[in-house]
Amino acid sequence: MKTKLFGVFGNPIIHSKSPALHNKAFADFAHVLGFQGEYRAILLQEGAHLKEEFVKLGLSGANITAPFKEIAYSLSDAQQGVAKELKALNTWVLEGGRVVGYNTDVQGFYAPLEALEMPITHALVIGAGGSARAVAHSLRAHGVHVSVVNRSVQRLNPFKAQGLTCFISAEFAPKPYDLVVNATSAGMDGVSLPLEGALLHELLRQTHIAYDLIYSVKTPFLQMAQDLGVRTLDGKAMLIAQAALSFGYFCAGHVPYAEILESMQEA
Ligand code: NDP
Repeated sequence: MKTKLFGVFGNPIIHSKSPALHNKAFADFAHVLGFQGEYRAILLQEGAHLKEEFVKLGLSGANITAPFKEIAYSLSDAQQGVAKELKALNTWVLEGGRVVGYNTDVQGFYAPLEALEMPITHALVIGAGGSARAVAHSLRAHGVHVSVVNRSVQRLNPFKAQGLTCFISAEFAPKPYDLVVNATSAGMDGVSLPLEGALLHELLRQTHIAYDLIYSVKTPFLQMAQDLGVRTLDGKAMLIAQAALSFGYFCAGHVPYAEILESMQEA
């Protein structure tokens, strides 16, 4: 049987669970796909070299994670669906010699929230990178009022352009939100918080749901929320949902989403 190569680009990438999820699904569905898939984690130093590496490694598809989602948009030959609006994406598929980009984070993010069945009217997104765009887009599509706070001002521009309320961290004052999302990479080290500690504590004290996109470690953000009795969600369910949707593109829709999800949940 022919082997096709896939991978996930990021920096850092050592903690990525994507290879375990995709390799399990490729093994489970090889008989349906007619090829064996091999999926590995690829550490990339320079975003500018992303496409070059994709081609050099002979990949048929890839995921792209922090901090390369925006450059992945710019370097793809074409983009489909919400990726076009967001100008950030997490999935590349080689289609007829062209690198076509998709964003599966948007749909993957909302699935665990929907399962909670709690009302969400106002949400605060901490962070303004590629994932924050997907999160804001997803929440707005579900009728939620979204505010965004970020450490630096420049990345807030696309959110401001959409009319969202934006703050830089240094000028942010806590108020009640139904949902607070950590869409920064602060906490991946198990130590850092996305906002100054006392301020975050005051914010989470007034929050119903705290959702951290990070899945590799229990973050201090989620720990603080849990200590305050806030309902918490980590990035695991989102990770699996976005991975299953990406796999759907890798196999050109030949395996139903529910079956991919089940296979990946077992992984
Ligand atoms: P980007 O690199 O595009 O953006 C990073 C964001 O984090 C920026 O807003 C940056 O602020 C902020 N940031 C980084 N370090 C700190 C810090 N110490 N304090 C405050 N803010 C900080 O990353 P992505 O948007 O692609 O990813 C963000 C996180 O989401 C990652 O941890 C990633 O693993 C996770 N993720 C999880 C997914 C899942 O399936 N569960 C899916 C996608 C992402 P500034 O602009 O000031 O630099």
